[in-house]
Amino acid sequence: MADSTPADGTDLRTPIVAVLGHVDHGKTTLLDHVRGSAVTADEAGAITQHIGATHVPLDVISEMAGGLVDPTDFDLPGLLFIDTPGHHSFSTLRSRGGALADIAILVVDVTDGFQPQTEEAIDILARTETPFVVAANKVDAVGGWRSEPNAPIQGRLDAQTDRVRSDVEEGLYEIIGDLSDAGFTADFYWRVSDFKANVGVVPCSAETGEGMPDLLAVLMGLSQRYLREAMAVDTTGPAAGTVLEVTDQQGFGTTLDAVIYDGRIDAGDRIVVGAANAPIVTEVRALLKPRPLAEIRSDDAFETVDRVVAADGVKIAAPELDDAMAGAPIRVVGDRSVEAVTAEVREELQSVAVE
Ligand code: GDP
Repeated sequence: MADSTPADGTDLRTPIVAVLGHVDHGKTTLLDHVRGSAVTADEAGAITQHIGATHVPLDVISEMAGGLVDPTDFDLPGLLFIDTPGHHSFSTLRSRGGALADIAILVVDVTDGFQPQTEEAIDILARTETPFVVAANKVDAVGGWRSEPNAPIQGRLDAQTDRVRSDVEEGLYEIIGDLSDAGFTADFYWRVSDFKANVGVVPCSAETGEGMPDLLAVLMGLSQRYLREAMAVDTTGPAAGTVLEVTDQQGFGTTLDAVIYDGRIDAGDRIVVGAANAPIVTEVRALLKPRPLAEIRSDDAFETVDRVVAADGVKIAAPELDDAMAGAPIRVVGDRSVEAVTAEVREELQSVAVE
């Protein structure tokens, strides 16, 4: 995949997914599971890795979700997972004053329940009005659990002994009660018909993959039903994006790992990037995407592409990026004046700083 050429004009972009939750409840394991399974499921190897965000196309989601996602029910192109979990990155990563993530997974260890960082994460999700699902993780850690890797969860719950099932349910009801105390009506996801009014709880194990098909199906369904309108973007317009990380890349100097959430960016485009002092005005030297895994040689993990279209992750190489900051806005100037775009970037940085 040397190019992500768009259809001209308005298009539906990929919803951006963030993972939040208390330390050790399984955020990293869950992201690793999604990435790992996606790479295995996607024989063409078109999964975007190591640039701060993982793009999982709809057909790959459908394959990972077994029979739970019929691709013909969806016109959103897939899901883009932000690779850095936790509410610090969620709060830092913003788009035009709102949250960069369109939707979130709140991971709660079913054997440990709500913890201080769970409460903090809920407060942030409520404040930013970000829709979320709860991954009630580590069901396999309940004593006596019998596993079947990557299976949908309802069949697995039915396959347990009465004692194991009741132990799991006890943990799940505690989570549902704590969500209620936090102001959210919640239930097992299969009993939820209106995901706008109720939070769906998905019992799962990031370790065994059980319930992961359900989690992907709920994320995809929720996005399609409630976020579709917000996903319509002009893929021919100048890109807007957010810096995830500023990194040194051999052969390219300082680069930006970024998520583009609107419009498009082309090699050679003039861009404005938020920075510690004044915004940086520079020109894109190269847009880099990870090579498909099968083709990676150690010295050549990236390939250059001509263009990236929202929403996607990309590594941007350009001169003079040293002062750029994680969380800062990126704008393609396009046919606007550099002054106007610089003012916009400066204003947005200030609004982030006030928070
Ligand atoms: P994070 O701090 O939220 O990112 O949590 P991690 O993903 O690092 O997980 C913390 C620990 O819990 C690690 O030892 C994981 O192997 C383990 N873990 C994560 N998910 C599961 C799960 O579903 N089942 C079990 N049994 N262990 C898990």
